[in-house]
Amino acid sequence: MARYTGAVCRLCRREGKKLFLKGERCYSEKCSVGIRAYAPGQHGQGRKKSSEYGLQLRAKQTARRFYGVQENQFHHYFEIAERKPGITGDNLLKILESRLDNVVYRVGFASSRAEARQLVGHGHFEVNGKRVDIASYLLKAGDVVSICEKARSLDKIKAVLEANSARPTPEWIDVDKTALTAKVVALPNRDQIDAPVEDQLIVELYSK
Ligand code: SF4
Repeated sequence: MARYTGAVCRLCRREGKKLFLKGERCYSEKCSVGIRAYAPGQHGQGRKKSSEYGLQLRAKQTARRFYGVQENQFHHYFEIAERKPGITGDNLLKILESRLDNVVYRVGFASSRAEARQLVGHGHFEVNGKRVDIASYLLKAGDVVSICEKARSLDKIKAVLEANSARPTPEWIDVDKTALTAKVVALPNRDQIDAPVEDQLIVELYSK
């Protein structure tokens, strides 16, 4: 399935919640969710009742859009989560959080997950000292993400770091803003994951 290339604010309005897809604008008063709190399109302000299946589908779409993951890959993550011991929903979120693009965004090395994917794809990041240009690379506890030496002097990287310097970072990642490194101390528990995702509904959807 092709990646969505339309206006991303429509995705947030469709899900009725902020998915933080647009960097700085998401934290400002210009956010479309606050200004037009209804779904986009001709029937956006119409019927709001949803079936059980509809709610489960929306929960899955919200998670996919929040993390910027394609349908097939998302389903693949679910299958891995199901095979792991523990609660499937928690496992799924843990996998999504451990993606390299997510960690790069979470620690403020990018303004959005989309930008993180682009910067990783351009080879600007290393994991444990080795260049990794795969945004879906799954990090483990103990892995250290750093900005490549060459990339540190780029205006684009400097601007991104400055714009995101005040953004709080998750407690499960140890960030050194001087050395420009981020160490995954441990993969997060469910209560450490700040994501508008109803994982139980996703589990119900895929368990049908
Ligand atoms: Fe647009 Fe960001 Fe607001 Fe979503 S959270 S509607 S992407 S500004």
